[in-house]
Amino acid sequence: MNRKWELKEVLDIYNGPLLELVFRAAKLHREHHNSRKVQISTLLSIKTGGCPEDCSYCPQAARYHTDIEKNELMTVEQVRSAALTAQANGSSRLCMGAAWRNVKNNSDFDQVIDLVKTVNGLDMEVCCTLGMLTENQAKRLADAGLYAYNHNLDSSEEFYKEIISTRGYEDRLETLDNARKANLTLCSGGIIGMGETSEDRCKMLITLANLETPPESVPINALVAVEGTPLEEQKTIPIWEMIRMVATTRIVLPGSVVRLSAGRTEMSSEGQALCFLAGAGSIFAGNKLLTTPNPDFVEDMDLFNILGLKPEKAFANGKQPKTKFDEKGSKEKVKWSRPDHKIEKNIEYSKKRKAVQKGK
Ligand code: SF4
Repeated sequence: MNRKWELKEVLDIYNGPLLELVFRAAKLHREHHNSRKVQISTLLSIKTGGCPEDCSYCPQAARYHTDIEKNELMTVEQVRSAALTAQANGSSRLCMGAAWRNVKNNSDFDQVIDLVKTVNGLDMEVCCTLGMLTENQAKRLADAGLYAYNHNLDSSEEFYKEIISTRGYEDRLETLDNARKANLTLCSGGIIGMGETSEDRCKMLITLANLETPPESVPINALVAVEGTPLEEQKTIPIWEMIRMVATTRIVLPGSVVRLSAGRTEMSSEGQALCFLAGAGSIFAGNKLLTTPNPDFVEDMDLFNILGLKPEKAFANGKQPKTKFDEKGSKEKVKWSRPDHKIEKNIEYSKKRKAVQKGK
């Protein structure tokens, strides 16, 4: 049975003396994981931009009019080629992201099923992040050979309302539950540096840790403030806060792989080394993370060599799923919420960007 955490004890961990915190996390990391191995994942944007949601940090939200290049859903051949390159560069997992509010039972979803089958056939771990998902859709993905589903909680339930108005926290939890019911492994974490408090960060970790089965993978992202999004003026989070967050995640979720995700271009090699010491067991490779910059592969390998780290092989923590016969045609009713509470910053930026586009 997983341990139930209280806010005060997690806050005490998070706010403790930094070196003691790193030491405790490093010790625990060595008890639960091979500290010499780091899993490399490649995040591939298979459908970019034009998203109807209003996540304040995201350049792919249509309403903010950022400079990203929009792309329709990638073909099987495009994805196969990207996956082979990622694999040749040491990635054992391919995470495919589509800028959708939720999965729809249409030909695009049928194509995603083919993409999953293709990448699983290359003996890579396949992860998808496609927005909200019903149980039946999760089952179709699992039958296609999906290994993990990514769906981040982003922050605490309270702070979530400050950054997103087009869906509720309960929708996130329901999708995680649907993915779990289909026996998919879960990848769910958050972003720091959006203006949240340390209490929000700790509350998010408690929600994840208190799930019946905590996520196998917990990405910790540092906000990359993109021009044209409501959070464009947020300051880069100090590396010390990232180290604190990684170490606290390690302690609160000892069995999960902690993924050092967005924001690494702003981190020094020494800062990243401390994150690995504090329990980070995975990075995202490739010079782009969906739409934001990321260190290139050679830079990462140089750092691995200096630190004596090795890339983890695929399916080190679980069995490769078998691709099964695909049963299409779900009749499920979808009931995702649309809270539509006001987020002044989001409304203000939508107007501002529209005006800039019209040349006002
Ligand atoms: S984070 Fe995802 S759901 Fe939110 S706006 Fe971006 S692509 Fe859409």
